[in-house]
Amino acid sequence: MRILVVEDEKKTAAFLAKGLNEAGYDVDLAVDGEAGSAIARARKFDLFIIDVMLPKKDGWSVLTDLRAAGIHTPVVFLTARDDVRDRVKGLELGADDYVVKPFAFPELLARIRSLLRRAPPRVSNRLFVQDLEIDTHRHRAQRGGTDLSLTPKEFLLLAHLARTPGEVVSRAEIAEHVWGIDFNTDTNVVDVVVRRLRSKVDDPFKTKLVHTIRGVGYVLKAE
Ligand code: CA
Repeated sequence: MRILVVEDEKKTAAFLAKGLNEAGYDVDLAVDGEAGSAIARARKFDLFIIDVMLPKKDGWSVLTDLRAAGIHTPVVFLTARDDVRDRVKGLELGADDYVVKPFAFPELLARIRSLLRRAPPRVSNRLFVQDLEIDTHRHRAQRGGTDLSLTPKEFLLLAHLARTPGEVVSRAEIAEHVWGIDFNTDTNVVDVVVRRLRSKVDDPFKTKLVHTIRGVGYVLKAE
């Protein structure tokens, strides 16, 4: 197991490297955000420990770089600031955990072990409903191995329904999610897109996946 530590404070970095080595991990060190971001993308790690306050590039920007590069390796942030806003910001960016300085090494180690147990990363870009497969990163949908040619709105709608298969999604929720606005006055537009989506996803196939729940909304399921 290899861990990258991105930390500019020499004492803390040395303390971390020694402790992690003793716990059986291989450790690489980076002393600023730019170096951290580059090393993290250049080789494979099982976990990142990143200080928030770093020279050249802060910890949040490093995390943003990694997620943008498709690297979903678990990240533990080290922060001197036990501030709710910091935590919320980090979690929104996709951090997995926080340790507030000064910290006790056994606490950090316990969190690292728990994260590594949870790996491989939980972020999946694929949704499956019966023989329907949706790749949300590539914006591609297939049924029975055949590509479905969907417009961006149809794709958003299908992906939204596929995230909660078997659960009824209201027209208002679909309108808000797919168009980003409040369509309360005219949800007919939703029905129109659903009809077009059905003609591509269901009409050519025996098993229908998109079902209407009269007066409520739509549900994606295999019967
Ligand atoms: Ca620092």
